[in-house]
Amino acid sequence: MKFDVIVVGAGTAGCLAAKTAAEAGLKVGIIERKTQEDIGDKICGDALGEHHVKSVKLPDPPVDVIDAKIEGIKIYSPDLETIFTVRHEDFSGYLLDRKRFGQWLLRMALDAGANLFDATLCLEPIISNGAAIGVTAKNLRTGRVERFIAKVVVDASGFSAVIRRKLPRDMNVENEVSNDDVEACYREIRQLKNGVESKYCEIYLNQDVTPGGYAWLFYKGRSRVNAGLGVCMRKGFPNPRSQFYRHVINKPIFEGSTILSAGAWYDPTRRPLDNMVGNGVIITGDAACLVNPIHG
Ligand SMILES: Cc1cc2nc3c(=O)[nH]c(=O)nc-3n(C[C@H](O)[C@H](O)[C@H](O)COP(=O)(O)OP(=O)(O)OC[C@H]3O[C@@H](n4cnc5c(N)ncnc54)[C@H](O)[C@@H]3O)c2cc1C
Repeated sequence: MKFDVIVVGAGTAGCLAAKTAAEAGLKVGIIERKTQEDIGDKICGDALGEHHVKSVKLPDPPVDVIDAKIEGIKIYSPDLETIFTVRHEDFSGYLLDRKRFGQWLLRMALDAGANLFDATLCLEPIISNGAAIGVTAKNLRTGRVERFIAKVVVDASGFSAVIRRKLPRDMNVENEVSNDDVEACYREIRQLKNGVESKYCEIYLNQDVTPGGYAWLFYKGRSRVNAGLGVCMRKGFPNPRSQFYRHVINKPIFEGSTILSAGAWYDPTRRPLDNMVGNGVIITGDAACLVNPIHG
C-alpha cells in the first residue's frame, strides 16, 4: 500500500499529525496496534491545560470529553506544611475522560481523510539508500505482515518509539533514551466513598518517596480521583506501585474507596531529542521526548 504519510501510533501526537497532514491534502495512513474502540485508553494523569488545546488550534473539547474543570495547582512540600498555590490562566484546564479524548482526536483525523489500520502492529521501518521509505506491520487479526510505503514515516508510537529505535545510526537520531531520563509511573482512578472535590490539581514533592518525580491527586468530579506517582528510573529506583501503596493510598480520603482503573507506564522526562528528523522520517510526541521536561 502506498501513502504520502504513514503515521505510526494513534495517540495524541499521531492523531494530530495525521489530521494536520490529511487537512493539507496528503494521503495518510495511521497504523495502530489497538483496536479502534480502544484508542484513547491510556495510563495518564488525565490533566490537560486549556492553553495546549488553543495553541494547536483545536476547538474546545466536547462536554462529554471533560470530567472536570481545573483552576490551578497546589504544590505540597515534603512535610506538607508549605503549599504553593498556582492560579493562572496557563494552569486552568481540564480533567479528561481520557478514552473519549482520544476518540475525539481520532475522529478529527479520520474526518480530515486519514485512513486507520487498527489492530496492526508496526514492526520496523523499511530503509532504502539511507532513507525511510515505509514500514512493515503485522495485521493482528489475520497475522499477515504487510508493507506500507510512504514518502514520510511519522513515529508517534509513544514511549515504545518503534521506528526511532530501529533507525540507522548514520541518521544521527538517538535510538535509545537513558533510563535516567525516564519516569516509571503507577496510577489508579478511584471512586471515593466520601465525596471530595477540588478545582486544584495536587502535586506532592518528596524525594524519599518519589526520587526524581512526584505524586499527584487530580480530582475528576463525581467523587473520583486520578492518583499516581512517578519515580526516576535511576539505578536502584523504588517500585512505583509499592511506593503508591505505602505512601499515597494510606491518606484518609481513600478509606473505603474502590479502584476503577489501575496501571503503570513510562514517561520520558528530559529535553526533546536533539534531532527529530531524518530522511523520510519525523519523530513526534513521547517518541521524540516532547513531554514537558519538568512535569511530564
Ligand atoms: C502515568 C502518566 C501520567 C501522565 N499524566 C499526564 C497528564 O496528566 N497530562 C499530560 O498532558 N500528560 C500526561 N502524561 C504524558 C502523556 O500521557 C504523554 O505525553 C502523551 O500521551 C504522549 O502521546 P503520544 O501520542 O506521543 O504517545 P501515546 O499516547 O503513548 O500513543 C502512542 C500510540 O502508539 C501505539 N503504538 C505503540 N507501539 C506501536 C506499534 N509497534 N505499532 C502500532 N502502534 C503502536 C500505542 O498503542 C498508542 O496508541 C502522563 C504519562 C504517564 C505515563
